Amino acid sequence: MSAPSELPSLPVLDAPTCDAHAHLDMLEDPAGAIANAARAGIALIATVVDLSEDERTFTELDGWLVAARALLDGSGHEGLALPDVCIVVGAHPHNASDFTPAIAARMREAATLPRVSAFGELGLDFHYDSSPRDVQRAAFREQLAIAHELDMPVIVHLREAHDDGLAILLEQGLPPAGCVIHCFTEDAATAARFVEAGCTVSFAGPVTFKKAEAIREAAAITPLGQLLVETDCPFLAPEPYRGRKNEPAFTVLTAVAVAAAKGIPTEEVAAAALENARRLYRRG
Ligand SMILES: [Zn+2]
Repeated sequence: MSAPSELPSLPVLDAPTCDAHAHLDMLEDPAGAIANAARAGIALIATVVDLSEDERTFTELDGWLVAARALLDGSGHEGLALPDVCIVVGAHPHNASDFTPAIAARMREAATLPRVSAFGELGLDFHYDSSPRDVQRAAFREQLAIAHELDMPVIVHLREAHDDGLAILLEQGLPPAGCVIHCFTEDAATAARFVEAGCTVSFAGPVTFKKAEAIREAAAITPLGQLLVETDCPFLAPEPYRGRKNEPAFTVLTAVAVAAAKGIPTEEVAAAALENARRLYRRG
């Protein structure tokens, strides 16, 4: 179990930022990770609940926050605020085959809960093809329609499916509450198409990887007003922690890489990402 004292060394930012996409329920020690995030200057975490997989976040989050508070208080960080944690609900494209009317009903119901801020992650994954592509397209369309109806933003997962994904988004229209392309790993030309369509582009650990020049070029052209930073933890830990378990605190490394790509101070990226996340998720 990780504890706040085990937080690896990270750059200290002069401005707080967000982890716009995490899977706290997949971490070994969500409470320790929340405490570490507080120490790293993460003011907002959006955590994903896949309604066809595991809803324990709904019952366990309050306990994680209480335990994180105790960890901070017990380690001399009494004055440090916990991050705000909001919840994103939906059916991952891997689970599109399980996107039943009951899950759609559960999405609508969950949208009324105060901590639920967006629908996701929904979209298309033609790399793994865990569900048939036509089934993925149908589940994507249906979840987009519910987002339109309930005025919720969407967090979109696209893998090897950016042309199809953008076509569906343009055909149905972007939900006015917002549309985030999460864990963006494509090039600048692809980023430009999503930016032009009005999407927010969210960068994760891969923007820090040594051979990821194309992703850094995508970060360079993404306007600050349409940019987020995230971990997608426990996956895709940024350099220099690539290969180990990721956690929300590591978002600061992604913010540093995005800022370097843009040639601006890290604090500008950190602050813009937090402001964008708070607006999209309607927090604070
Ligand atoms: Zn994810």
